Amino acid sequence: MLASNEPSFRQSVDIMFNRAAALLDLPPGLEEKIRVCNSTYVVRFGVRLRGQIHTFTGYRSVHSEHMEPVKGGIRYALSVDQDEVEALAALMTYKCALVEVPFGGSKGGLCIDPRVWNEEELERITRRFAYELIKRDLINPSQNVPAPDMGTSEREMAWIADQYRRMATTDINARACVTGKPLNAGGIAGRVEATGRGIQFALREFFRHPEDVARAHLDGSLAGKRIIIQGLGNVGYHAAKFLSEDDDCRIVGIIERDGAILDPGGLPVERVKAHLNETGGVRGFPGAEYVADGMSVLTEDCDILIPAAMEGVINLANVHRIRAPLIVEAANGPITAGADEVLRGKGTVIIPDLFANAGGVTVSYFEWVKNLSHIRFGRLQRRQEETRHHLLVEELERLSADRGLGWTLSPGFKEKYLRGAGELELVRSGLDDTMRGAYQAMREVWLGRKDVPDLRIAAYIVAIQRVAASYRALGL
Ligand code: GLU
Repeated sequence: MLASNEPSFRQSVDIMFNRAAALLDLPPGLEEKIRVCNSTYVVRFGVRLRGQIHTFTGYRSVHSEHMEPVKGGIRYALSVDQDEVEALAALMTYKCALVEVPFGGSKGGLCIDPRVWNEEELERITRRFAYELIKRDLINPSQNVPAPDMGTSEREMAWIADQYRRMATTDINARACVTGKPLNAGGIAGRVEATGRGIQFALREFFRHPEDVARAHLDGSLAGKRIIIQGLGNVGYHAAKFLSEDDDCRIVGIIERDGAILDPGGLPVERVKAHLNETGGVRGFPGAEYVADGMSVLTEDCDILIPAAMEGVINLANVHRIRAPLIVEAANGPITAGADEVLRGKGTVIIPDLFANAGGVTVSYFEWVKNLSHIRFGRLQRRQEETRHHLLVEELERLSADRGLGWTLSPGFKEKYLRGAGELELVRSGLDDTMRGAYQAMREVWLGRKDVPDLRIAAYIVAIQRVAASYRALGL
């Protein structure tokens, strides 16, 4: 719960937008046109469950249609209301623009605690919600394409895709009506890990620039950095796993619903996740210090703090005690506008949500393109690529033998080099390229303009300029 002196989530997003827009010279009226949410559809529907009718409230908000389809996840949580969905839809617009994903912004939500219902019940609720949205074209491959968000996963996306297919029997592109589907239902390799992988690529790119690292009062590489992560859901788990396994970071704290665990030597993410799945919490994880007031761990000493659960967790009530010099917003809106201002004053560097967690929608875009092209990425070129690599290696070996040069390829090289890229490698490469490109666009504004105090404002400036350019192209 936010203190009464804090703006709402949607107001927070608007405040951040306004700060950036004030630094731009937009034609009169265009600023407001970009900021406002175009429409929000509210649906109340009943489903007969456990012998009685239960009424659910769902939303689908379309923030901007400067590009179509519009895109954004569907969230199942008790926090879902119009304000939250509109804030999240606005963030989708700016996020897509920043990472050059050709979609407008949208978001949906159902006010429900998904843990209260069993799988069969959730399927009936989801299909009914999807039915309401599909019949109004609020789920449609060319107009509005949902994806997973908090409380939903591949499973719900498969139900939605199937519901759409049943209602649009002649639509050859039916599978493109939703992304984040399981692989066997038209999904793409690497979508589940995508947001966490994007966090890793974002941090790697940040650490490629010593000047930026110094602004966060840090130095050196990612290796050995102490990380506290809040939320070990899909995003937090993958980010923590990749950063500890591939980049030698130390996950010194993990915050979950039932408390937090600490280990200065680094927590084994995979085992913590298994414990969480088994017991429903982190409490009792062997060998780690347990803290019952989990949220207090947000203010513990660390190099990088990664809030990866929900909005508003860093707010006016705790911001003064935050010690991390670098915060990566893996969640959407984890820092309120008020807290953002305090952190700026303290010199904390924030890698903002619209960039940091854009990996999910980026790979959703790849999935949508795959669905429209009806072919797996890499299917045509993989073996051809391998054949050409073989040719080169054989030629090198022949030259070495003929001329008695005695060249030997280093161990593992041949195997790695000869392998043609499959879908997963291509998706990761496209995601890496996207994250690097977006960081550089943001950075150019951050370092290049004296009136831009932080990466968030820089990110908004890049995004707003791009949205404004497409409105101009539309003649507005
Ligand atoms: N829910 C994710 C987000 O907030 C993914 C959205 C998508 O893939 O459309 O970015």
